[in-house]
Amino acid sequence: MHLSRRNVFRGAVVIGAGTVLPPLLTEPALAAPVIASCATWGARNPSSTLTQLATNPNKIIIHHTATPNSTDYSQAHAYALARSIQNHHMDNNGWSDTGQNFTVSRGGYIMEGRHYSLSKLTAGSGFVTSAHCPGQNTTGVGIENEGTYTSLTPPTVLWDKLVDLCVYICQRYGISSSQIYGHRDFVATACPGDAFYAQLPALKAAVQAKLVSFSATVDNTSSGFRASANWGVSTYSSQRFGVDYRYAAPFSGSDGAYYSATLPSAGNYKVEMWHPANTGYNAATPVVIFSSAGNQTVTVNQTVSGGVWRNLGTFAFAAGAQDFAAVSRWTSGTAYVIADAMRITKV
Ligand SMILES: [Zn+2]
Repeated sequence: MHLSRRNVFRGAVVIGAGTVLPPLLTEPALAAPVIASCATWGARNPSSTLTQLATNPNKIIIHHTATPNSTDYSQAHAYALARSIQNHHMDNNGWSDTGQNFTVSRGGYIMEGRHYSLSKLTAGSGFVTSAHCPGQNTTGVGIENEGTYTSLTPPTVLWDKLVDLCVYICQRYGISSSQIYGHRDFVATACPGDAFYAQLPALKAAVQAKLVSFSATVDNTSSGFRASANWGVSTYSSQRFGVDYRYAAPFSGSDGAYYSATLPSAGNYKVEMWHPANTGYNAATPVVIFSSAGNQTVTVNQTVSGGVWRNLGTFAFAAGAQDFAAVSRWTSGTAYVIADAMRITKV
């Protein structure tokens, strides 16, 4: 296989025809919030079979429970609230199960409401017909927030957990932060209260801010890293990131060390590199950035500035799983090129 130098800097071409790529292992951009399942808070079984849907919901609908603004912020109180709501919905309203999909207590505990809501959300696939907003029960994820928010707004701990829950729902189902509504947007009701309803633009903004925040660190031992066996493993320098790093002698061919990540959205990302430095390492190591605007090569002097994050610049990337950078061996001299860790951060 002989590649032109031009092709070496054209991304996928570097790998060479016939190369089988390993599967890209991905991780969620944000950790899932803790959500207590029906079993955890002690739900009753539904009184009749619930309708499970293969389709995903496309919006989030915010409610308040219109219960007192309790100052009991305990988990026990939260679980008792969930049981109380279920009893009310089943025994007084005659529904099969809790009406809403999720409940957030004033103490910040997130709980599953209707059965299947959590398992479907975790899978990011499917939904369960609910009973929280007429006309929207097959398409809207209903969240009940404990309290009455006619004139008061929810406590910060509730707000923060609600933001986390909405972010997670948006991520798992691919829902835009713009698709967050109040109950009153669909039905003549005071819910979720004037004061809380007035906060919905702020809620959307807070969710959007978290959806776009993203940073991933890919070490040479991470699943997002790959390099051929021509790259040795070293623990020589104490400036290494993690347990070890990879090194290779310059070579006029395609044998890069690749870094991949799953980017949550298209846009600009800062790319940083961490490597140990040594006077015996390469002074002109090419690092190829696989930007959506074309591949760009940043030359890094690896004889200096080791053991810190070095900013390689800010570049545009498309959304999704992709190689975002590679350390190339195609450079002059005999000194080793080093591949240790990369960090990519949405800006
Ligand atoms: Zn409501």
